[in-house]
Amino acid sequence: MGDESTFQPFARSGLLRRAAPFVGAMWLALVIYPLPPHGGDSRALLPAVVVNVLILVAVLIVPWSRLGPMAAVLPPLAYLLVVALLRDADGGGSSAYGALLILPIFWLALYGSPQQLAVGFAGLTAVFVVPILLVGAPDYPSSEWTRAMVWLCVAPIIGFTVQSLVREQRNRAEENLRRADELQVSQEETRKLVVSMAAVTEATRELARTTDAKVAREIICAAACTVTGARFAKLMERSPDGELVMTANHGLEGGPPLTVAPADETSGAGSVFRSKKPLFVEDAPGDDQISQRVVLATGAVSMHFEPVLRNEEAVAVLVVGWNRRVDESSRIAASMRMLAAETAMTLERSDLLARLEEVARTDDLTGLLNRRGWEEQLPRELARSKRHKDPLCVAMLDLDFFKNYNDQRGHQAGDRLLKQSASAWARELRASDTLARYGGEEFSVALPGCRLENAKDIVERLRAVMPGDQTVSAGVVCWNGRETLEELVGRADAALYEAKRMGRDCLVAAGDTPPGELRSVL
Ligand code: GH3
Ligand code: MG
Ligand code: MG
Repeated sequence: MGDESTFQPFARSGLLRRAAPFVGAMWLALVIYPLPPHGGDSRALLPAVVVNVLILVAVLIVPWSRLGPMAAVLPPLAYLLVVALLRDADGGGSSAYGALLILPIFWLALYGSPQQLAVGFAGLTAVFVVPILLVGAPDYPSSEWTRAMVWLCVAPIIGFTVQSLVREQRNRAEENLRRADELQVSQEETRKLVVSMAAVTEATRELARTTDAKVAREIICAAACTVTGARFAKLMERSPDGELVMTANHGLEGGPPLTVAPADETSGAGSVFRSKKPLFVEDAPGDDQISQRVVLATGAVSMHFEPVLRNEEAVAVLVVGWNRRVDESSRIAASMRMLAAETAMTLERSDLLARLEEVARTDDLTGLLNRRGWEEQLPRELARSKRHKDPLCVAMLDLDFFKNYNDQRGHQAGDRLLKQSASAWARELRASDTLARYGGEEFSVALPGCRLENAKDIVERLRAVMPGDQTVSAGVVCWNGRETLEELVGRADAALYEAKRMGRDCLVAAGDTPPGELRSVL
C-alpha cells in the first residue's frame, strides 16, 4: 500500500472523528457490563477499565509517528484483550461481547495497512483459540470451535473488503487531487496564452498603423519581450553582403554595439539562419552554439532564436534573451512562431513600401530621379550646403527644338535620344551630383561643392556629350546663401529661358544676381 509510510491512524488531526465511534463502543460495553444478569462480577471489570484508560492515554501521549508502523497495532490488540476479559467474565464463548471483537478489525481495516490488519487477525485468532485450548469447558467447550471458525472466516472477509474499498476510495481522491492540480496548471498556461495572444494582436494592430519600417521592427521586438517575458529582443536581418545585421532591438538600447557578427564567429542567430529551425538554449553562458560575446554583452542566460521565413527562405532571425534560466514552454515556442510570421509580413511590407517609394521617385524612361525625387533631394543638398558652408550650383537643361526632332524622326527615336542623353550625362557627373528629369525634355542638375565657374565647365561638358547633332540650352546658377529653393530654381529656369531667347545651343550663368539683372552678368 503506497500510503503505508505516511498513514498514521493516531495522528492528532482528525483523531477524535476517527476514534469516537470506537471509544464510544468500548465505554458503552463497560457501562452495560454491571447490568443484570451478570451484573456485579467485578473480576473482569477493573482490569478492563484499567486497560481501557491505558489505551486512551497511550493513544494520546505516545509519539506514534516516531515509532515503527507496527506499533500502531498495539492499541487495537489491547482492545481485543479488554473484550476478551469482558467476554470471559460474561460467561465465556456464549457471551454477546464476542461481537465487539470485530471493532479492532474494523479499525485496522479502515486506518491500517494489510500487514497491520494481518496482525489484528492473529490477535483475534488468539482470543478465540487460546481460551478453548487453555480454559476449556464449561465456559469454552469444544463446541466453541464452530463459533471460532465462523468468526475467523468472516473477519478477514470483512477486514480485507473494507480495506480494499478504502484503498480504492483513497486512490480515487488522490487521482482527483492530481487532476485538479493539472487543471490549475493548464488554466494558468491558458491565461498566459491569452495574454500572449492579446500582445501579438496589439502588435499587429500597431504594425498596421505604421508605415515606418524602423518603427515596425521595434514594435515587433517590444512585443517579443512582452509575450515571452524576455529582458531583450533583437531582430537580425541579412544585409545585401550576406551578413546578419541587427536592424532593431528592445531592451538593448545604449548597450555595446552588436550590429554585425564577425564572419568566423559561432552564433545562435547564424546557425538558425542557416538551418531555418528554431533554437532554445536554457543555459547560454558557456554554450558553444552561442556567441559568448553576445552572452557577455547582454547578460543573457536563456535564449530563443526563431527564424523568420519568407517563401521557405530565411530572411531574418528574431532573438529573445532572459537574464534568468527559463524552461521553455510550448506557449513561448508558439508565440515566437507567431511573431516570426508577423515579422516576415512586416519585412515584406516594408520592402514593398521601399520599392514603391523608389518607383515613385524614379523616371521610367531614363531611370533618373523624376520631378518628385528631385524635389525631395534638393532640400537635402541645400541643407548640407548650409551645414558645411559649401557652394551649391543648380543647372537646368532643355533640348532644343525637340518637338521637331519628334516630328521628323518619330516619338520612339525621341525617347531613345532622351535615354542616351541621360546616360551620357550621368557618366559625366560625380556620385555626389544629382541629375533628374525635371519633365519632358527638360533636365535638372545639382552640383554640390561647385563654384559657378566650375559649374559652367561641367554644364558645358554635358552639352558637349549630347548625342548626334542635337543641341541643348542650359541655365546655371549658384546659391546665394539666402534665397529659398523656389527662388534658386526660379533663377536657374530664368537663365535657361534667357539661353533660349538668345538663340539656343548656349549656356547662361547667373551669379548672386536677381533674375532681372541677368543680362549684366552675361
Ligand atoms: P525649345 O527649343 O523651345 O525647347 O523647343 P521644343 O520643341 O524643344 O519645346 P516644346 O516645349 O515646344 O516641345 C517639347 C517637346 O518635347 C514636345 C514633346 O513631344 C517632347 N517630349 C516631351 N516629353 C517627351 C518624351 O518623353 N518622349 C518624347 N519622344 N518626346 C517628348
Ligand atoms: Mg525644348
Ligand atoms: Mg521644354
